[in-house]
Amino acid sequence: MAKIPINMKSGEVEKSEVIIGIDLGTTNSLVSIVEDGKARVIKDDDGQTALVPSIVHFNEENKIIVGHLAKKLLSTHPERTIYSAKRLMGKSYKDLANYTSLLGYEIIDEEDKLVKVKVGQEFHTPVNLSAEILKYLKARIEKVLNKNISKAVITVPAYFNDAQRQATRDAGKLAGLEVLRIINEPTAASLAYGFGKKEEPSKTIAVYDLGGGTFDISILKLDNGVFDVLSTNGDTFLGGDDFDRVIMDHWVNQSQLSTEDLNTNKSLAQSIRLQAEMAKVHLSDNDIFESKDRSFQISKEEFHQLSKPIVEKTIDICKSAVKDAELELSDIDEVILVGGSTRMPLVKKMVSNYFGKTANDALNPDEVVAQGAAIQADILAGNTTGYLLLDVTPLSLGIETMGGLMDVIIPRNSKVPSSAGRSYTTSVDGQSKLKVSIFQGERDLVEHNRKLGEFVLSNIPPMPAGIPKIEVHFIIDADGILKVRAMEKRSETQTEITITSQYGISEEEMGRMLVDSLKHAEQDMKTKALLEAQNEAKSIIHSGHKFIKQNEAILSQEETNELITLINDLEHAVKDKTKDNIQLAMKILNDFSAPLAERAMNYNIKQALSGKKVGE
Ligand code: AMP
Repeated sequence: MAKIPINMKSGEVEKSEVIIGIDLGTTNSLVSIVEDGKARVIKDDDGQTALVPSIVHFNEENKIIVGHLAKKLLSTHPERTIYSAKRLMGKSYKDLANYTSLLGYEIIDEEDKLVKVKVGQEFHTPVNLSAEILKYLKARIEKVLNKNISKAVITVPAYFNDAQRQATRDAGKLAGLEVLRIINEPTAASLAYGFGKKEEPSKTIAVYDLGGGTFDISILKLDNGVFDVLSTNGDTFLGGDDFDRVIMDHWVNQSQLSTEDLNTNKSLAQSIRLQAEMAKVHLSDNDIFESKDRSFQISKEEFHQLSKPIVEKTIDICKSAVKDAELELSDIDEVILVGGSTRMPLVKKMVSNYFGKTANDALNPDEVVAQGAAIQADILAGNTTGYLLLDVTPLSLGIETMGGLMDVIIPRNSKVPSSAGRSYTTSVDGQSKLKVSIFQGERDLVEHNRKLGEFVLSNIPPMPAGIPKIEVHFIIDADGILKVRAMEKRSETQTEITITSQYGISEEEMGRMLVDSLKHAEQDMKTKALLEAQNEAKSIIHSGHKFIKQNEAILSQEETNELITLINDLEHAVKDKTKDNIQLAMKILNDFSAPLAERAMNYNIKQALSGKKVGE
């Protein structure tokens, strides 16, 4: 079968074009480029600072301030200054558990929906917040290099799932950057250390990455230029912030302050937090810290005692990673230190002790990930050679879901061969057929993407909406041939399609599609958010009517009338096409119906227990 250009290499990159490498960190972000064959990080005009705090401040006039200036506003305006947005990426309110109470800003409690941050009357998503940081980084490097920049490689933690990688891509898009690759941070660090060349003998590397908010350990096998992740482990809530917190707690214990004081006075909490971070950094090179006003002191010895349990936790996680990789400690050839917190002498010592070899810290631990991203960018630009580059999918592949939305199954730049699947269900009771339409492209609405083919999965046994479990699986083989299979799991009904060469796409067309996706990013995301809200509302309206019908016995006339009114309000909001109104109408309906649903459930359980059939 003819090879189709689904896995065309990144031919769209012009030689000599500058592609930047971005380390979008939890605490700090930075940009690097390769110049004269060497990766270097971009510093401010003053030639001093390379690290940009990943902090976004929204002032009263909704002007956006990013970086060092925003960091200064953390203690005076904590509710308008957002830090650690990366931790919120692809997460719901529920996922964040108790963490939200530690933040100085407000996160909307919407259970299992993706988190939103409320600043004044505005709502911001982690994608928007990350896009602001990326916009700032882009503008800064454009100023320093006096050149327009439009392409980037961005790094993400190895444990980031599909949704989090997609969110990072979207943030890049919103910032006006074409994201050529999303690469794993440990892979980037290994590239920076020069590992992974084609001719190099096979090597096993442990990348120990202790940043501001997260800990990652990755064990990579580098063989003939291929990076293979043998295992990754980590803790998304373990990092430099925890060392700051033990110092804070130590000071609070020693002073007249209580945790209650800090909870009620967010500004005071933030300023002590910043002092604690200063103390921690100071103690990496000194034996004692004393604050300017002399109210807080801590010695290196005390700090080591307090921080040892935290470092031990990371060593336990390393043990699991080594075990998962099915290796002995002696199999590991190199240990690389990444992340600002590895500057702590205690960390270096305990990691070296555990692995039985001196941990490599030759490169600046804050910069190695960005440098690796720049090297990857330079490989894509065709300048750096000697690395093996795997084939990748140049455009995302996915299917059409309700409302004409594109649901990406294999994201752009995934390695080939590749396989991925996702579960879907029906939206109508008794639905016996499901049309699967396959698209290629970066836009959120399928109408703007390219249709590759479609087929119908028929003979789905009649079931209520939402019950069938339909798995759609995409497989791209080493020749780039795409197979799509849909299967209803309960009945094992299955249909498959092979996309053949007639669906190929020219490089010009591919380039145009990428440019369009950047140009329309903001509008596309707004449309997507509206369609998602409309889809959710329609399914709530459907269940609402069903609920009234099934529970006539326990609902009073007033309750039924009120439910009908609220469902009608929601129907109007859907027709109105204003996302915020739809969400508000859903919330009001949910708030009213939740106690009724609970009552209905209790009643039904009681009926079932007393031997009667539900609905009798
Ligand atoms: P990263 O997320 O990799 O940018 O790491 C940032 C974290 O490293 C923050 O928690 C910083 O406080 C911490 N850090 C930076 N420099 C030092 C230092 N010299 N000693 C200890 N921690 C540091």
